[in-house]
Amino acid sequence: MEGIKSLENKKIPDFEDVVAFHGHACPGLAFGFRASLAALAELGERSEDEELVALVENRSCAVDAIQVVTGCTLGKGNLILPDYGKQVYTFLKRPSGQGVRIVVKWVSPQETAAEQETWKRFSDGDRSPEVMRIIKARKGEKMQEILKADQQELFTISHITAALPEMAQIYPSLICSQCGEKVMEPKTCQRGEKILCIPCAEKD
Ligand SMILES: [Zn+2]
Ligand SMILES: [Zn+2]
Repeated sequence: MEGIKSLENKKIPDFEDVVAFHGHACPGLAFGFRASLAALAELGERSEDEELVALVENRSCAVDAIQVVTGCTLGKGNLILPDYGKQVYTFLKRPSGQGVRIVVKWVSPQETAAEQETWKRFSDGDRSPEVMRIIKARKGEKMQEILKADQQELFTISHITAALPEMAQIYPSLICSQCGEKVMEPKTCQRGEKILCIPCAEKD
């Protein structure tokens, strides 16, 4: 497990590690990777526990790069996804709330009329081998452009101080009276004598 070992040595994961986690290489992943590197350059080490919090304003491939590179993950609760459909990545340090807001400003170079026509056919549902070959090539080129671009071309970065979300908490488990499965206390519903989990309460 070479990857795991390198994390223990606090090496910053590289783009290959990110692709291994995500499953494919794509422009969105490249944005997430570059934003993560920019954040770590400004704020220091990746997050082993919850010392760093990421607020990601979209649900794109970029999210996976951020989890691998910065250590801000859904599982640890220090990755928050207010989905505004914006390419904006905010990283805050605990306990100070100081951090950076990274806004993607990069626009890909103007495409040829033929490339624009191909994108239109693709978004209209054309998945012919000819269209797929051109789309794949364009995505690959775009990804390389993002990986190689100067940071100033990609992002506007501002230093901010903001309110931190609450730390992840551990709650006791109760047993749902209906299904008999364990459920964390704040997610239970009281129905008379019964304590129910949310799915059982919705069926009740
Ligand atoms: Zn992707
Ligand atoms: Zn239940």
